[in-house]
Amino acid sequence: MSILSHRAVSASKGLGRLSSSLRASPAAARLFSQTPSAKNVSFELSEDQQAYQDLARKFTRDNIIPVARHYDETMEYPWEVIKKAHEVGLLNTHIPEKFGGPGLGLMECSLITEELAYGCTGIQTAIEANGLAEAPLIVAGNDEQKAKYLGRMTEEPLVASYGVTEPGAGSDVANIQTRAEKRGNKWILNGTKMWITNGGHANWYFVLARTNPNERPHKALSGFIVDGDAPGVIRGKKEINMGQRCSDTRMITFEDVEVPEENLLGKPGDGFKIAMGAFDITRPLVASGAVGLAQRALYEATIYAKECKTMGQPIINHQAVAFMLADMQMAVEASRNLVWKACWAKDQGMRNSFLASMAKCTASRAAVSNADQAVQIYGGLGFNTESAVEKLYRDAKIFELYEGTSQIQRLVISRQLADLYNA
Ligand SMILES: Cc1cc2nc3c(=O)[nH]c(=O)nc-3n(C[C@H](O)[C@H](O)[C@H](O)COP(=O)(O)OP(=O)(O)OC[C@H]3O[C@@H](n4cnc5c(N)ncnc54)[C@H](O)[C@@H]3O)c2cc1C
Repeated sequence: MSILSHRAVSASKGLGRLSSSLRASPAAARLFSQTPSAKNVSFELSEDQQAYQDLARKFTRDNIIPVARHYDETMEYPWEVIKKAHEVGLLNTHIPEKFGGPGLGLMECSLITEELAYGCTGIQTAIEANGLAEAPLIVAGNDEQKAKYLGRMTEEPLVASYGVTEPGAGSDVANIQTRAEKRGNKWILNGTKMWITNGGHANWYFVLARTNPNERPHKALSGFIVDGDAPGVIRGKKEINMGQRCSDTRMITFEDVEVPEENLLGKPGDGFKIAMGAFDITRPLVASGAVGLAQRALYEATIYAKECKTMGQPIINHQAVAFMLADMQMAVEASRNLVWKACWAKDQGMRNSFLASMAKCTASRAAVSNADQAVQIYGGLGFNTESAVEKLYRDAKIFELYEGTSQIQRLVISRQLADLYNA
């Protein structure tokens, strides 16, 4: 297997020009604060970054690609792969060193995620969902909470879940109905979460619940850590999804679940901010998963286009096919550049929500579009389960839906524009 060069990134001038012209306005300063001068822009990976990328690439080649079809067909949860990923240090990569993790930057995490996704985004999502569950604790947990709940993730191969979406509230997070009521030194949790990744296997859940119905929506919610074995936690059946079929998605119901006071994250009313703050970490990583799938589709389609002949020539020599491949290559590079920039900004301590939404929206479109074009290039074979690209087509769509649909990413982006551009 050869993955096309991840380092041959040369189209940086456009981004640089955009950023420097935008720096003039105060709004731009907030969004792009301290955009680096040209001399600091580098797309060259450090030795450590290269090593993480190589490790993840080798892991994917040896442990994911050979079993991806099996897990897709059987829809089994990929526990064996998760255990191996834990063993080699590719799970929970952004848990700080103080709590037993490697404390990698977002940039390093994104390099790893892209490689895992290249092999199978179902398996990568199962792995990545840990990062999503852990992000609210990293953003807002105190040292005791981090030591207890992040620490155990580093000690043994466990998975956790992020429980925000409900049957009646996905994009409209502020409208969630799960309630937590304070009784003595406990919170009593009641409600139903939907589409919870890793939900059937989670050791613990991050749960967003309504604690103060009289407050305005964004102050009415609080975040909790809920033990998976707490009485009253009811795990629903595994949902059968279009793609990423080995990833475990379930409804989780909480019936009078007692949550100790020390499992409240931050203060009552902080929940919405915490749940959204987690996305600054996780959206760039979802985006890098999408880049991995888009890259795989490009690779498979190019190899096929060199082998398949029509009208006396390999189909790559037909301009209509070659141009599809060119579009796919551009989509991969453009998306990866945005992902890297969103990660870089976060690693510099800057607010990156705007970039994270752009990265997620662009990369998820690249995944869907590249998978679609790969099937097109395969012709009828692409529609068959024996082909290398049919699974990519089914797996790609979810990237435009979970962790904020593409419409919600556009909402985040568009809300900044009036402030950003002034006559
Ligand atoms: C496989 C899978 C895994 C998931 N994993 C998790 C998880 O681990 N944890 C978790 O909490 N959630 C998870 N989700 C839920 C996911 O994040 C939501 O499905 C997603 O946010 C969309 O919410 P919804 O399904 O309720 O759609 P809705 O919010 O009902 O949206 C329906 C449509 O309306 C559009 N829309 C909604 N509001 C607006 C608006 N204001 N402007 C423009 N368009 C709008 C949407 O873009 C979409 O096209 C998962 C979902 C799936 C399918």
